[in-house]
Amino acid sequence: MSVHEQYADDLALHALNVLEGDARVSLEKHLETCSACRQELELLRGDTALLALSTTGPKPPQRSRQRLLEAIVKEPRGLGAKPVRSFNWWAAFGWAAAVGMLVVVIQLRRENSTLREGMSELGSMIGKQTIELENARRVADTITASDAMRVELVSVKTPPVPRGKAFYLRNRTSLVFVASNLAPLAPDKIYELWLFPKSGGPPIAAGLFKPDANGSATVVNPPLPAGVEAKAFAVTLEPESGPHDTPRGTAVMASGA
Ligand SMILES: [Zn+2]
Repeated sequence: MSVHEQYADDLALHALNVLEGDARVSLEKHLETCSACRQELELLRGDTALLALSTTGPKPPQRSRQRLLEAIVKEPRGLGAKPVRSFNWWAAFGWAAAVGMLVVVIQLRRENSTLREGMSELGSMIGKQTIELENARRVADTITASDAMRVELVSVKTPPVPRGKAFYLRNRTSLVFVASNLAPLAPDKIYELWLFPKSGGPPIAAGLFKPDANGSATVVNPPLPAGVEAKAFAVTLEPESGPHDTPRGTAVMASGA
């Protein structure tokens, strides 16, 4: 390292924070323009921290300690006019090391506790998110499970009303209709599903059906003209004997349209 010789000892003192007065002012001025000295100062400061830790912590690498010691005991040279300072290097170094150690230990403790607080906060955040995710997964599982029991609850004061759901894919001419709570049929009656075209023509017959003992029924892919756009669906109660080409009986349910 090509450090300017005349600053070597001042750099070491500066690293320990014990350089004062004119020497400090002139060194700081020099540091503003000299990256080599700035770099050396950083190295020395690193060594100081390592050395301070070494009384309690693991041993620093021998070369770090060596580099610091060499820098500190280096004699001023090359400037004959400059008097040799009557300065007790080892006393200064001992005190500085003690102070440095204290500062480093306090700083490390502070960082450690901040880190620990951060970790526990992060841990509780992750915990909360895990719980929320787990809840969402259980909701989805319950709704989509093939063996889930599906029960609809309605007001206890009103009798169950007939309900129907139509699933219609116009471009595939595919229709699935599912109904529940249907009243039992008289022997000569049957339910009929109707598709009301959006174009406004007459309703199209979309299947005859009878409910099972629970009042449930399904109609799957009844014969339909291709590609008709639907405006609404309805179910009527018709005579079983027919004809079933147009609604003649009473309306049981209809989709809003
Ligand atoms: Zn320099």
